Amino acid sequence: MKKMLIANRGEIALRVMKTAKKMGIQTVAIYSDIDRNAPHVAFADEAINIGKNPSNKSYLQGNIIIEQAKLLHVDAIHPGYGFLSENAKFAEEVEKNNIIFIGPKSKSIRMMGDKLAAKEAVKNYDIPMVPGIDRALTNIESALDIAQEIGFPILIKAAAGGGGKGMRIVENKDELASQMERAISEATSAFGDGSVFIEKYITSPRHIEIQILADNHSNVIHLFERECSIQRRHQKVVEEAPSSILSPEMRKKMGEAAINVARSCDYVGAGTVEFLVDDKMDFYFLEMNTRLQVEHPVTEFITGLDLVEQQIKIARGEKLSLQQSDLKIKGHALELRVYAEDSMNDFLPNVGELHVYKIPKGKNIRLDDGYSEGMEIPIYYDPMISKLVTYGKTRIEAIQLMISAIEDYRIEGVKTTLPFGKFVCEHEAFRTGKFDTHFVKNYYSTEKLEAETKKEAEVAALIGLKVYLEEQKILKIPNN
Ligand code: ADP
Ligand code: ADP
Ligand code: MG
Repeated sequence: MKKMLIANRGEIALRVMKTAKKMGIQTVAIYSDIDRNAPHVAFADEAINIGKNPSNKSYLQGNIIIEQAKLLHVDAIHPGYGFLSENAKFAEEVEKNNIIFIGPKSKSIRMMGDKLAAKEAVKNYDIPMVPGIDRALTNIESALDIAQEIGFPILIKAAAGGGGKGMRIVENKDELASQMERAISEATSAFGDGSVFIEKYITSPRHIEIQILADNHSNVIHLFERECSIQRRHQKVVEEAPSSILSPEMRKKMGEAAINVARSCDYVGAGTVEFLVDDKMDFYFLEMNTRLQVEHPVTEFITGLDLVEQQIKIARGEKLSLQQSDLKIKGHALELRVYAEDSMNDFLPNVGELHVYKIPKGKNIRLDDGYSEGMEIPIYYDPMISKLVTYGKTRIEAIQLMISAIEDYRIEGVKTTLPFGKFVCEHEAFRTGKFDTHFVKNYYSTEKLEAETKKEAEVAALIGLKVYLEEQKILKIPNN
């Protein structure tokens, strides 16, 4: 593998290229018009414009990307996450054109990309599943029967769902018809597939997922868990590894279940098996993401592995050089997704120009970003600016380092999730590990964040005043 095209943008394109470079592989960037001056373009050995700003005119144009890759004699394509990363047709086309797709076979992507097909595949492997149905709903009457059998509240989910989209909670039977209609129309417009199904709504769950690696020689290992329960809109904002609640026995059980999920679809590459864990510590299979995950850096910190390097080696046909028994968790890592969002206003996207952009630096601080000062956060794509990751010998060390890194991170021009991240890190529920996916609903409010910010401003003002008075004293000394 001599030349790789990275079919993505932003922090993940840059992150993948860094490993490729380290391994002596040439890199090709792709970009839309607005991304012409983006860091991932500057970093790559070659770069090609693949179209206009909207993703369906650029980063989702699989055929154009493959055509360009052929012209440039590219050996492999890395899809990153999002965009074409879970598009089975794209993976298939890449392979048909004799280019290596850095990811699993299209068959596995297809199976796991459809949450219903995934449930079907893992059925024979004795993996605990969220109570619910394993086929698409067709009419309200049958939906009502099923909902009553499972018991309210229930969750209507899109079979093709992703990124936290296409989910509707139904509290009672009166809401069922209208919520089902909405779910179907949302699923149709977001994923081009209106299939929905029902799951029991687990009321107080934690989202805990297992990272797996599988090679082409039937070896599958897991790289432990990531806790991703701090979410807004069913999408993760703060992640950590390891989880503060898993016992070694439970870690082993979930790890084995994840390996079985991978085996059920002949998985090859890096992948993530997501589970929900309820308040009785029972766990249930949720879905498998057949790609590199946004939050993979926390796993890299605690295992010392480079997951992109592992992906590339697997894609080259190499055997895994590690066995399960070689792996140990070392320390604790925490990640904050820094989104251009207003955490004081329902986490609505807040795009614009990064007038000031100064990043925190230091030992055990890792910042994966794809922007620099003066750049615009485009409205066309996911508004994530960066991922701030900290590491410590203990959980509390990683948390404290995160707080100071957030304080050293200066972004002006757009609102971000940085203040929210600090709120989480300082909150008793998070610090003691007693939280679930409803952290935002249960503990977070704009008033609370505002109160914190005000208190800090007052403290800062007092410190400022003290410094001023002391300086006055010093200035006065010569006069006395
Ligand atoms: P992860 O599962 O890696 O934690 P997310 O769920 O936040 O991350 O998804 C990663 C990116 O992929 C986001 O930009 C999200 O909007 C996008 N994404 C995920 N699944 C889909 C999908 N099925 N269709 C479109 N975009 C998706
Ligand atoms: P996506 O493909 O969008 O990532 P997931 O099935 O992974 O969808 O679910 C995303 C999030 O939605 C979970 O992390 C969890 O917070 C919530 N969720 C999903 N299914 C359930 C459920 N049955 N009960 C409670 N919460 C759920
Ligand atoms: Mg998911």
